[in-house]
Amino acid sequence: RKRCIRISTGSKQLDAALNGGFQTMSLNEVYGEFRCGKTQLAHTMAVIAQLPKEMGGAEGKVAYIDTEGTFRPERIMEIAERFGVDPDQACENIAYARAQNTEMQAELLDGLAASFATNEYRLLIIDSVMSLYRTDYVGRGELSERQQVLGQFLRRATQMAEEFNLVVLMAHTSPNDSTNQVMSDPGASALFAGVDGRKPAGGHILAHASTTRLLLRKGRGEERVAKIVDSPDCPEREATYIITTGGIND
Ligand code: ADP
Ligand code: MG
Repeated sequence: RKRCIRISTGSKQLDAALNGGFQTMSLNEVYGEFRCGKTQLAHTMAVIAQLPKEMGGAEGKVAYIDTEGTFRPERIMEIAERFGVDPDQACENIAYARAQNTEMQAELLDGLAASFATNEYRLLIIDSVMSLYRTDYVGRGELSERQQVLGQFLRRATQMAEEFNLVVLMAHTSPNDSTNQVMSDPGASALFAGVDGRKPAGGHILAHASTTRLLLRKGRGEERVAKIVDSPDCPEREATYIITTGGIND
């Protein structure tokens, strides 16, 4: 039997709120407005996942599906230095792929099965999980098709998380946080109905698929706030964190 492992976020406060970090064998959703730190959290965890367990890691490799072109190896190297690991090695342990459309995103996921079968991987990042579905399936007319292909993708990701003992970390920008985005994407407002901390009305299949959901927002000054939403084993609670050269921290 596979043993579930927790991977640290880089912030002790946030880890405490998550009972020690994100768990393997689960899908986890990190959402919130632009620039609140979703991609920085992804970079930080891409390094921490490689660390020994005593340091909050899982001694594992990382797969990174990037849909927005925001992955930066230089950031990985800076974060590696914080944890005293070799920056080049840290980059080598990350299997990086850029997806240009939803078909590619699904193919990349399938293609990773062979790598995951080596049992060397503990973290799969998808940043962002939703953006290509929004551009490939535009408006209300394509909403049901979008839901269907997104549902397929999420089922496959769930299956892989369980089969290969992975933390799946999925970032996306919440359209509810931006009036403009809702206006320009009528499908999204239906898809994300009820995303503001309440139980979704049934349309939000991403929320439904996720074990733990983390809502990020800007706080006072440099401070950022993470709120745990709908977790099966944590109460709804908040933690603060900051973004540093070394990644997410307290
Ligand atoms: P998003 O939620 O949109 O993915 P990001 O994870 O890209 O947001 O976070 C962007 C924020 O991270 C910006 O406010 C930026 O100032 C901060 N940031 C990026 N790199 C660094 C760094 N090296 N040191 C401190 N802050 C950084
Ligand atoms: Mg981002």
